[in-house]
Amino acid sequence: MSKVVKFGGSSLASAEQFKKVGKIIKEDSERRFVIPSAPGKRFAKDKKVTDMLYACYATAEKGKTAAAFKAELAAIKERYTEIISGLGLKLSLDAEFETIAENFKKKIGKDYAASRGEYLNGLIMADYLGFEFIDAAEVIKFNENGEFDAELTDSILSAKLKGVVNAVIPGFYGSLPDGSVKTFSRGGSDITGSIVARACKADVYENWTDVSGFLIADPRIIDNPEVIETITYKELRELSYMGATVLHEDAIFPVRSGGIPINIRNTNAPADNGTWIVESTCQKSKYTITGVAGKRGFCAINIEKDMMNAEIGFGRKVLQAFEDNGISFEHIPSGIDTMTVFVHQDEFMHKEQQVVSAIHRLADPDSIEIEADLALIAVVGRGMKSTRGTAGRIFSALAHANVNVKMIDQGSSELNIIIGVANNDFEAAIKAIYDIFVVARL
Ligand code: ASP
Repeated sequence: MSKVVKFGGSSLASAEQFKKVGKIIKEDSERRFVIPSAPGKRFAKDKKVTDMLYACYATAEKGKTAAAFKAELAAIKERYTEIISGLGLKLSLDAEFETIAENFKKKIGKDYAASRGEYLNGLIMADYLGFEFIDAAEVIKFNENGEFDAELTDSILSAKLKGVVNAVIPGFYGSLPDGSVKTFSRGGSDITGSIVARACKADVYENWTDVSGFLIADPRIIDNPEVIETITYKELRELSYMGATVLHEDAIFPVRSGGIPINIRNTNAPADNGTWIVESTCQKSKYTITGVAGKRGFCAINIEKDMMNAEIGFGRKVLQAFEDNGISFEHIPSGIDTMTVFVHQDEFMHKEQQVVSAIHRLADPDSIEIEADLALIAVVGRGMKSTRGTAGRIFSALAHANVNVKMIDQGSSELNIIIGVANNDFEAAIKAIYDIFVVARL
């Protein structure tokens, strides 16, 4: 058995946090491969080391005063020194910081700069645990277009890990064919963990963070929402699309293709089971719904044309108008003589008149009406398939909460129901749905 364990920035923000992480790893000898992020925030107003590195590199690039650059780099070094001394290690990062300072002055690239956060934390972690250190630049590969090269990485990494019992591999970065450092997008250590799990054919990919799993609803709207015990990849995709985030989206693919489950865990509450993200499960979710999430800021374009249903190609012509203007659509519920296109308001706003005239030109509708300031809510759950009356319960709960439903869209997979409401009704709607399914336990 082997487990890959990734720790997020808040789990590694201080020596205190490092100690919790060390205990978690040492408790279970199957936790063989460790992926650290860079130190995150220690308190709400603190700065993440990654952000400090980007800022410091920008200072070096602008060629601002040497004093400003030195001070910024010293503040970063201080974050690491504090951790090293708090852990009582003998490790010195002096030589590393000299190299970093030289490379920054040479303007080596902002990806290199940002990657040092994980690199240095990895050195400390390896020293603290007595594990081998593997530089991610040697094993995580990107192609000349800057895209992640899954095949090459998998062959290099799996060969490398075969002979290794325990290792620390920093998250977030790898290298281009010319050897220069390239990072994933922000939050990318999740991706590294997933890639390593796949390469070593791990039994589980544990992703340790500062919450006890994926929550049924947004904690900014619902006080203390319950944690989802088990969620499928498909359900996760629906909820993440609507803005629920715990994990980087690109972290799913490598483990999913390797059939490896992800377990989201809390470094600050290691006894909690967290959330299991799996391909498929016979385990019923505790409630009819697995989760509810949503986003504000949508706009609906209502297109009417008499006898639309008999006109072949009408939908294509309408969508062509959006495509020609570079606008992606989110949903297209339709009626007998109407078709509605949901788009992101901020994307659409600047192009609305071009799109409207293009629809007129291409599809010749009777009328077009635009409704702004809408929110979409996805009620997601594999349990909905086998439960009758889910839609009925949602709509009666919304009616009781005085929320007017503007759009309904149920996918044929019966995995989700998407509801459109006014932006102003967004929170009331989420609360009503949470109450009816979770608080009332239906
Ligand atoms: N340190 C990087 C960031 O802040 C990557 C990560 O934490 O996953 O985005």
